[in-house]
Amino acid sequence: MKQNFEIAVFDGDGIGPEIMGPTVDILTRMAAASDDYGLSFTPAPAGAAHYAKTGESLPAASMETARNSDAILLSAMGLPSVRYADGTEISPQIDIRKELVLFAGVRPVTIQPGQRTPLDMPDGKAVDFVLIRESTEGLFYTQGKGEVTKDEARETLLITRDISEKLFKFAFNLAHDRKKQGRGPGRVTCVDKANVFRAFAFFREMFDAEAAKHPELTADHAYVDATALWMVMKPWEFDVLVTENMFGDILSDLGAGLMGGLGLAPSADIGLENAVFQPCHGSAPDIAGQGLANPLAMILSAAMMLDWLGLKHDNSAMARDGQRLREAVEHVVADGRVLTRDLGGTAGTAEAAQAVTDALFVA
Ligand code: NAD
Repeated sequence: MKQNFEIAVFDGDGIGPEIMGPTVDILTRMAAASDDYGLSFTPAPAGAAHYAKTGESLPAASMETARNSDAILLSAMGLPSVRYADGTEISPQIDIRKELVLFAGVRPVTIQPGQRTPLDMPDGKAVDFVLIRESTEGLFYTQGKGEVTKDEARETLLITRDISEKLFKFAFNLAHDRKKQGRGPGRVTCVDKANVFRAFAFFREMFDAEAAKHPELTADHAYVDATALWMVMKPWEFDVLVTENMFGDILSDLGAGLMGGLGLAPSADIGLENAVFQPCHGSAPDIAGQGLANPLAMILSAAMMLDWLGLKHDNSAMARDGQRLREAVEHVVADGRVLTRDLGGTAGTAEAAQAVTDALFVA
């Protein structure tokens, strides 16, 4: 039976609409060709430009569209020139994460043979690991509420049992699924600073308790500083890494750097019910409106959405299409003839998206 899914679409700011348009076109075409699933898309206005126009950054109706959808696609939000009265930027993507308790920030790091990378890759090696960044607490807990006096500033790190247990369960399940797909050895690494902070010893204890429930998987620990070193020295050894919010924030940009930049870095923020799929990059106001933005990270995020929906709803055709879409992007990158400027080419957004469409639909 054909399953239908409602997708909330946040076009966002800057290059957001430019990369979202072709991504929705590709998904529409894939769904139209499928007997097993259908997709319908509902626009959800929000962001800095919307705030400048209406005084609202995340209208209640858009939040409801997001909450009631099967999945959420989001490009990027925020513009440095548009700010709240306290000087901070408009960032509804963070409000959505907190509101829907999307605790698992999933950041895949992949380097295919032939892909541009600052690493000196040994022959025959590829990189394929996933960094999971806790996304609702940690050192972001007091975001916007830190105490600052003339002589001192304080922010609080929060690690809770409730969120950590959900996070570790998610991480081990992901390693299990990856192993089943032949994508990893089934290894989960807890990245922390348990040698210095009691909060991380607590974090580690809960990780070990979850690890004990998965004898078929390997569990180990690494300090965050050493992890940064190994991500550069031998990233092909990692499978699933799981860490606190701020550590994950920093390490995921290192991961994007290993992949040759933000233009190929997708992400997902996943909770128990809802999930947002969006590229790691921002709204790139410096190139907005010129048709130059790289759409590939957005398209790869859409592939993650198909994977997640396919797995959640036991729809193998959808999961297969997630894999097909990812392979089409990998083909375009490895081929190297149609790349945007950030990847060393000369193509614009439309040409890059067309190359992916051709790889998918033209034999
Ligand atoms: P950015 O990621 O928007 O841009 C950094 C650099 O990368 C720029 O030179 C930009 O041109 C380039 N770039 C980014 N995405 C690209 C793409 N798809 N194709 C080609 N080049 C690309 O980061 P920034 O300049 O620090 O932030 C700009 C705005 O985006 C800010 O308002 C910031 O708050 C917001 N932001 C939003 C998100 C999000 O929505 N998740 C994330 C980061 C930044």
